[in-house]
Amino acid sequence: MRYVSTRDAGLRLSGAEAIVRGLSREGGLFLPERIPQLSREDLQRLSALPYDRRAAWVMSQYLEEFSLEELEDYTRKAYCAAGKFDAVTAAPVVKLPGDLSVLELWHGPTSAFKDMALQVLPYLLTASLKKTGEDKQVLILAATSGDTGKAAMEGFRDVPQTKILVFYPENGVSEVQKLQMQTQEGKNVGVCAVKGNFDDAQTGVKQLFSDAALRERLEGRSVFLSSANSINWGRVLPQIAYYISAYCDMAASGAVSLGEPIQVCVPTGNFGNILAAYYAKEMGLPVGRLICASNSNNVLTEFIRTGVYDRNRRFFSTSSPSMDILISSNLERLLFLLTGSDREVRTYMESLKQTGRYAVSEAVLKKLQSQFSAWDCDDKKTLDAIGRVWTEDGYLLDTHTAVGYHAAQECRRQTGDRSPMLLVSTASPFKFSDSVLKALGAEPAAKGLDGLEQLAKMTKIPAPAPLAQLRGKPVRFTGAVEKTEMEAAVMEMLA
Ligand SMILES: *Cc1c(COP(=O)(O)O)cnc(C)c1O
Repeated sequence: MRYVSTRDAGLRLSGAEAIVRGLSREGGLFLPERIPQLSREDLQRLSALPYDRRAAWVMSQYLEEFSLEELEDYTRKAYCAAGKFDAVTAAPVVKLPGDLSVLELWHGPTSAFKDMALQVLPYLLTASLKKTGEDKQVLILAATSGDTGKAAMEGFRDVPQTKILVFYPENGVSEVQKLQMQTQEGKNVGVCAVKGNFDDAQTGVKQLFSDAALRERLEGRSVFLSSANSINWGRVLPQIAYYISAYCDMAASGAVSLGEPIQVCVPTGNFGNILAAYYAKEMGLPVGRLICASNSNNVLTEFIRTGVYDRNRRFFSTSSPSMDILISSNLERLLFLLTGSDREVRTYMESLKQTGRYAVSEAVLKKLQSQFSAWDCDDKKTLDAIGRVWTEDGYLLDTHTAVGYHAAQECRRQTGDRSPMLLVSTASPFKFSDSVLKALGAEPAAKGLDGLEQLAKMTKIPAPAPLAQLRGKPVRFTGAVEKTEMEAAVMEMLA
């Protein structure tokens, strides 16, 4: 299986090369040149396996130069090692009333779904360095809307031949998220706040990647850059697995009969998670509608409904900060898959860069709408959903998952489609205690960790251990830079 770039379909790379590089030099994203197929027999066979072996098999379909045994070794270490995931399986499916299954992806060390990929990526990347004969040091840059940064550092801490530097929007993450990053341990990690929002941080990181002068300076020090954001294929790939796994679990529990289509609803920001769902569907997983759920930063809702992507709009800081994003990087991969044309993708991306906006052709819009539906949800409705589901079903949603819950309900109400629904739950409610407490009608006593304890007391649900243990951890990183100073932060990290 070879990999191409969304902006240069003539490129041919191996999967290992795509993972090592992260982003293509002309600014495009790597993706496999074709999508492997999943048969009903495959599904049946996978159903009998534990999560880590399901994940390894799915990844092996995309990575020819890795043996199944190698991948099984990585996924066993990532998902089964003691103290990593606090549930019986890494990605459990919980059934709620009304034909709703919730895929809980936050049982990992940082309590958000990013762990699903970022616990495996270090193994994939380290092995890819070996396979490609790369002996320079990798500096991994990550822009984070709150969850990627922590999960990436937790995955890469003290991994040989790597350093990792994380940029987060200074006022754009929750208290718990900030504390998680500022107290990160490890000799090879760095954290830096950026005076701006997530889009500023992500654009800054992308600029560093395409900066030829910087690349040369780094080369002089035997260092090159790679990415832990979902622009790296190594982030998207492990995520495809949990959709397939969830379907197996739903079939086993009788929530769906094997072969019957389900709807999948994904709270979306950078479009990485829902892109993985699209891949699973294209592999042949019985999925009908893919529901893209957004908060008030509803640029994707509008795009899927009208075909116009327009980032020239007000930016909202919402109660679901990990989705406060106006430039969804992974949409570029979808555009390539829908158009099959690097030229067309380049035109759209050039227009986005110049004017902040592009409009896709009628043909693309039609294809898009045959696969995706979109709903958005403001903060009030988000909190309403949390309160209602807690009162009626005794189940505690985090703010991001609540956005998805609202979208799933709206979709059902407006389309009348009653097929089984899989709602992707992306974070533990304890990461966003203050908002969740408000939703339950409580007055959050204080900020951060006090809220965590208050929520645990009120709901009688214990807070995830890694979050509870943040109390008393020394703060290591307090630096903040202007958008224009990110390169200096990189050089300082290497000094
Ligand atoms: C990152 C994140 C999202 C958005 O996922 P994308 O892959 O960027 O669309 C949603 N919820 C939470 C909790 C996240 O951390």
